[in-house]
Amino acid sequence: MDEFSLINTFFKSIGSTRRDVVLGIGDDAACLDVPAGYQLLISTDSLLADVHFCSNWDAYDIACKCVMVNVSDIAAMGGKPCWVSLALTLPSFDSVWLERFSKGLNDSLQRFNIALIGGDTTKGSLSITLTIHGLVPIGRSIQRKGAEAGDVIYVSGVLGAAALAVHYLNLSMDNQDRAVVLNLLQHPNPRVDLTTCLQAYASAAIDISDGLSADLNHICLASGVGACLFSDALPIHCLVKQYEPEKALDFVLSGGDDYELCFTVPKPSEAAFLQDLDQMNLQCYPIGVIESMPGMRLQTHLGDIIELTPRGYQHF
Ligand code: ADP
Ligand code: MG
Repeated sequence: MDEFSLINTFFKSIGSTRRDVVLGIGDDAACLDVPAGYQLLISTDSLLADVHFCSNWDAYDIACKCVMVNVSDIAAMGGKPCWVSLALTLPSFDSVWLERFSKGLNDSLQRFNIALIGGDTTKGSLSITLTIHGLVPIGRSIQRKGAEAGDVIYVSGVLGAAALAVHYLNLSMDNQDRAVVLNLLQHPNPRVDLTTCLQAYASAAIDISDGLSADLNHICLASGVGACLFSDALPIHCLVKQYEPEKALDFVLSGGDDYELCFTVPKPSEAAFLQDLDQMNLQCYPIGVIESMPGMRLQTHLGDIIELTPRGYQHF
């Protein structure tokens, strides 16, 4: 099968059909209608075999993960995901793999009403790069740089399960428990449900892809502030507590791959924020406070304050 038949067979008719796609796959570039009153958000994430996923994963799961991590970046900006393009590098033509990949891509794109608008297909070591485009009302994107001293730091969910899944890939774990954490690693749930709340209340936000401490540090550096986290308040996944109680704090602070959001809410807005969350049946966890002193600190359960060195996944 040549490159063009491959594109037509596996990628031409997948994802959501959107009326704002003037021209999708098949020309030199896609053409999209951007509605008045909105700004475009654009983000790219690559997933490489044996770095971000194991080569032996079902290609369905690889495609899902690729979409989820990209959608998470748009969610972290307070936007709505709309369109993706796919740069796919394959070591060989493998129709079974492509069939699964294309199905995973289709299902996950449809879940968020995203259209596949183009891409590029090449031969080489397996790598998947998605560029996602989203929309946000003008001036409403939530950036890393808006946090101020006194703001309350929140995370959107329990952390550490993805790190536990990676840690236990080669260790013995109850089969059902392994399936739970592996599912969280392969199918993170990007927090698009928080978009309206974040737009209304958050002063800064980031998604936790590298690890809470590393990602929160990005907010601190961009905002010119520091942070103090309360160790007792950090929400830890129950299986992390069960299997690795000693490593739990480490997994939560520097494990990464959880794709929850970390964001800050100015104290005066906190009550209204919590009320809105409650009305939407959502729960977020206050884990600390933004301080004017640069650097990151951790208040232990005994009340001691220790220096917190931001750590997370680093490629280089
Ligand atoms: P060009 O030579 O102009 O770069 P290509 O031959 O690479 O075009 O691609 C032909 C069309 O197919 C383009 O519209 C491109 O966006 C799309 N395309 C290529 N690869 C993929 C892919 N993996 N998924 C979706 N669309 C793709
Ligand atoms: Mg091309």
